[in-house]
Amino acid sequence: MEERDYSEMLKKVKSSVQKREEKKRFQIPKPEIITEGKLTIIKNFKEIVDVINRDESHVYKFLIKQFGLSGDISDGRLIFKGKPPEGSIEKAFQEYLRTYVQCYECGNYDTEMIREFRNEVIRCKACGAERPLHAHKEIKYSEEKIEERKTYELEVTDLNRDGDGISIKGDITVIIPGAKKGQKVTVRIDRIRKNYALGILVKKN
Ligand SMILES: [Zn+2]
Repeated sequence: MEERDYSEMLKKVKSSVQKREEKKRFQIPKPEIITEGKLTIIKNFKEIVDVINRDESHVYKFLIKQFGLSGDISDGRLIFKGKPPEGSIEKAFQEYLRTYVQCYECGNYDTEMIREFRNEVIRCKACGAERPLHAHKEIKYSEEKIEERKTYELEVTDLNRDGDGISIKGDITVIIPGAKKGQKVTVRIDRIRKNYALGILVKKN
C-alpha cells in the first residue's frame, strides 16, 4: 500500500471515531426515578445537569415548579417531596430540553446559555445558531426590517426574565429595558445581532 493511501485511511478512521465520540458525549441520560416513602427522587440529577451544561438550580426550579411540590437537591439527587404523576417528570424534563437546551436550527443539544444585552441567549456549539431564550419556535418571519440608530413605534408584548420589555418586529426580537408590558413606546434601535436587537426607550406613547 502506498504511504499516501495509508494516511488517507488513517484520517478517515480518526474522523469516524471522533464523530462517534461526539455523538456519545451528547447522549443525555434519562432521569432515573425512584421513590423512597413519600419522596420521589431523580438519582442521576447532577449527571444530567453536567451533560447538558446548565445551572443545577435553574433545572431544579423549572422541574419543581411544574408540580407545585417542595423539594431539595442533595448528593447530586433531586428530591421531590411528594409523588408527581407517573411519566410526568420525564415529560417536564423533555420540556426543559426543548425550551432551554436544544438548538432550533440543527436540533443539537450541545449548546450554551450566554448573556448578551441583558438577555439570555442559547448558542449552538455545533452550527453557531443563536436564539433569545424567550423566543418561541414559531417566529413569524416577515418583510418588516429594522435598522440600527433608527426609531420605531413598538408595542411591548412581553417581558424577559430581567423584566425588560420585549417587542417582536418582523423576525427580530427587540429588547427594551425600562418598558412595561402593554405599553406603546418609541424606541431607538441601538444594536442588532442576528435575530434580536437592543432598543433604547425614547418615550412612552
Ligand atoms: Zn445548531
